[in-house]
Amino acid sequence: MKKKHKTFDINCGKCGNYLLTYHKYGAGKGILRLYFSNIAAPDELVNLLSLEYDRVGDVPNLQCSECEEVLGVPALSKGGRWVFRMRQGYFHRKLKR
Ligand SMILES: [Zn+2]
Repeated sequence: MKKKHKTFDINCGKCGNYLLTYHKYGAGKGILRLYFSNIAAPDELVNLLSLEYDRVGDVPNLQCSECEEVLGVPALSKGGRWVFRMRQGYFHRKLKR
């Protein structure tokens, strides 16, 4: 059975540059963390995040490619999954249909 998700575009809050497309599962309204495995696009980022990381220090920040603002920092969730902890107010999200 396929779980339902909503699809969001995440853009830089400073310059508006598109960063990624995210599949959000569950009912929560906010986007506090992005699970790497639910990041759907772009391919370069998906590929980068699919590498096997051992240490937080090896994982890149989620950074705007245009203005270099840092929008999220990597962390390990309780379940041992990699996430970006998102900096609230530094990004925009747009619900896609
Ligand atoms: Zn930017």
